[in-house]
Amino acid sequence: MNGHWQTINYKQGNLIMTSTDQSFEHLLSSVREFIRTECIPYEKEVDLADEIPERIVQGMRDLGLFGHSIPREFGGAGLTSEQLSLVNMEVSQAATTFRARFGGNTGIASESLIVDGTPDQKKKYLPKLASGELTGCFALTEPNAGSDATAQKTTAIKEGNEYILNGTKCFITNAPVADLFTVFARTDQTIKGAAGVTAFLIERGTSGLSTSQRYQMMGQRGSPVGEVILENCRVSENAIVGGRPGLGFRTAMKALNKQRINLAGLCIGPAIRLVKEMVDYARTREQFGQAIGEFQLVQQMIAESNLEVYAARALLLETARKRDSGQDVTMEASMCKLLASEMCGRVADRAVQIFGGAGYIAGNVAEQFYRDVRLFRLYEGTSQIHLVNIAKRTMAMMNEVKSA
Ligand SMILES: Cc1cc2nc3c(=O)[nH]c(=O)nc-3n(C[C@H](O)[C@H](O)[C@H](O)COP(=O)(O)OP(=O)(O)OC[C@H]3O[C@@H](n4cnc5c(N)ncnc54)[C@H](O)[C@@H]3O)c2cc1C
Repeated sequence: MNGHWQTINYKQGNLIMTSTDQSFEHLLSSVREFIRTECIPYEKEVDLADEIPERIVQGMRDLGLFGHSIPREFGGAGLTSEQLSLVNMEVSQAATTFRARFGGNTGIASESLIVDGTPDQKKKYLPKLASGELTGCFALTEPNAGSDATAQKTTAIKEGNEYILNGTKCFITNAPVADLFTVFARTDQTIKGAAGVTAFLIERGTSGLSTSQRYQMMGQRGSPVGEVILENCRVSENAIVGGRPGLGFRTAMKALNKQRINLAGLCIGPAIRLVKEMVDYARTREQFGQAIGEFQLVQQMIAESNLEVYAARALLLETARKRDSGQDVTMEASMCKLLASEMCGRVADRAVQIFGGAGYIAGNVAEQFYRDVRLFRLYEGTSQIHLVNIAKRTMAMMNEVKSA
């Protein structure tokens, strides 16, 4: 992309302007500027090197990106779900690997602590996660516990005041660079399913915890993803999130619920960017003596893409506001994640189509984003799992209406 890139500033939702919102507007414009000047110009370089330069990571720390969702009392920005959604739609207009570097800290890797941590655990870890001094990760998935995350095989056996953990976690974002691991393990071997699972906070350097090399991935290159290996890893019972065993799966679901709203924002940002890229290209590329943007079949792809972005954005902001007002948005969070991730895949596909052969060649923005956004339909609940969830909740809702 050329140096004239501007991130697209969709008009803000209907945030009521208070002094807090004015400072939020300032935060949002600083983020926009950082993405425009420090990330977008380097996205091809990062894709090739499979590494984000430390200078950029430090810039993320300086800007407070690691702590947006963490409460202010622990050094974060304490953003609401709506504000976080607006930020997510900005940060993900650059290749999403950038956001993945700090996204754990301001999402899934801190959320378990925020919702269920003890006061001591929060005090010890949240300020360092907010500043980016520590990188966190969320280690739930195992080789045989993917969509069925309740099938946890990692064990945590109690011995005195300690637990000994054994097992392997796979596909863990930031595991190769993480300092703090939220690890889910089965503490009660007599119970199958969610009930016997406990969440532990384990620091790198703890004997028995190691991480693999990063995987070579289809996209989001620069985002280190790997395994967490636990071999007789001994931790104090104080490492249990919230201090009580057996509640880990409930904690994981609370964190994932919020994360699904975050993720919807992260799917909408790339789609916004791609609409801009499509339009720019369609205006300048000429065939049959005219700009391809003059052809109505090309216009259809642009129109359908912008329409879908708008719809996903509206659903996201509505859901985020509902969550902020204290309503249960479990089903809506699934809807947001499903709609936005599927939409983003379709927009990326259309972007490749509009770029023609150039869109298939390495180094083209559509080619890179097409690979990057494929992940969205797989993690934090595959599309099929969200469809199943939505169906289940819709049917339960209808039953309630019938019996009322
Ligand atoms: C790059 C990357 C980063 C990740 N980061 C993390 C992380 O930080 N932490 C973490 O814990 N995990 C992480 N994951 C794991 C991710 O959440 C899982 O890959 C995902 O939950 C799917 O599990 P699976 O890969 O085992 O697929 P499976 O569960 O084996 O699914 C395979 C296929 O079967 C379908 N399927 C399964 N069950 C059903 C059903 N009931 N009905 C219909 N279809 C079904 C699925 O939709 C899918 O199409 C990451 C994965 C990747 C690739």
